[in-house]
Amino acid sequence: MTTFLTARKTLLNSAAIGFALVVGLLAGCGGNTAGNTVVAGAESSKTYRWKLITTWPKNLPGLGTAPEELADRIRAMSNGRLDIKVYGAGELVGAFEIFDAVSQGTAEMGHGAAYYWRGKLPVAAMFATVPFGMNTTEMTGWLHEGGGLELWRELYEPFNLYPFPGGNTGVQMAGWFNKEINSLADLQGLKMRIPGLGGEVLQRAGGVPVALPGGDVFTSLQTGVIDATEWVGPYNDLALGLHTVAKYYYYPGWHEPGPSLETLVNKEAWASLPPDLQAIVEAACLTMDTLVPAEFTARNAAALQTMLDEHGVELRRLPDDVLDRLQELSVEVVDEMAGDDPLSQRVVASYRDFAERAKTYSKISEQAYINARD
Ligand code: CA
Repeated sequence: MTTFLTARKTLLNSAAIGFALVVGLLAGCGGNTAGNTVVAGAESSKTYRWKLITTWPKNLPGLGTAPEELADRIRAMSNGRLDIKVYGAGELVGAFEIFDAVSQGTAEMGHGAAYYWRGKLPVAAMFATVPFGMNTTEMTGWLHEGGGLELWRELYEPFNLYPFPGGNTGVQMAGWFNKEINSLADLQGLKMRIPGLGGEVLQRAGGVPVALPGGDVFTSLQTGVIDATEWVGPYNDLALGLHTVAKYYYYPGWHEPGPSLETLVNKEAWASLPPDLQAIVEAACLTMDTLVPAEFTARNAAALQTMLDEHGVELRRLPDDVLDRLQELSVEVVDEMAGDDPLSQRVVASYRDFAERAKTYSKISEQAYINARD
């Protein structure tokens, strides 16, 4: 991780110099346009000191380091004018309190995942991931170019929040179990840590979903508070040590096929920034939305090999009939989520419309290629 971050920071410093040159050139070109001129003065010399709170254990590789790197990039690109201090889960507020804390201005920014707010705002989960829904590439297409992000901002607007996609883990693993899952009967009464819509689906299949932040997963599985857990994938799961408290590692991650993380900004704090700092935050968020999935792609394969070669982890695939039933239940869950609320209906319709078209194309592009390669 250190080497990787150091390499990135070297690149970042070059990027910061390039950015400063571009800003300088733009300032030179636009100087005589009334209303658009940024005059050197109070606003451009002011330093903003912000707090960023997260749902992740401090510096957990991947999830926890992503907001740290986001803050580093914003600090470098702004020449220190936007100085953000990052807090891990529990340092300032609890893991599941960041939505409210950023909404209320306790911190200016947050980093988490939208499905954690399902109790307050059920349809928010669709901006994280939908069981048997879009993969990472498709989700990124919907959010950035398919109208998804506009709907996300509309949904969070009454909560005084301005969200950005905050990276994506790629398709996750189905999770860690101490008994084999050979049929639907094996899910009956199974107490499993699984968030979001996946948890709702598991419940309908007879299981007992439990909501736990990442920092509590290991101990809960070790002490038998839960029977099984999902977390992310080999890179993050190895970091939490889950292979030491469960025997079987199941795939595929039907419940989280391409989960987007989220970066939250308090709306007043956002509005208080001058346009160049807003542009820097936006650019840094976009950068992280590219680098986080790259990091997971690079690290998951290596971590899986370590689990198999050094820790004797037993890989298992969920049986087809189990996956088929979970998929049927997933459709029901999303159907019901649209409910009577017009905005929720629009979110569900937009997601499903995009997903359907993306699936048709993916079949003859990525899926066909992967099948051909194998
Ligand atoms: Ca997960």
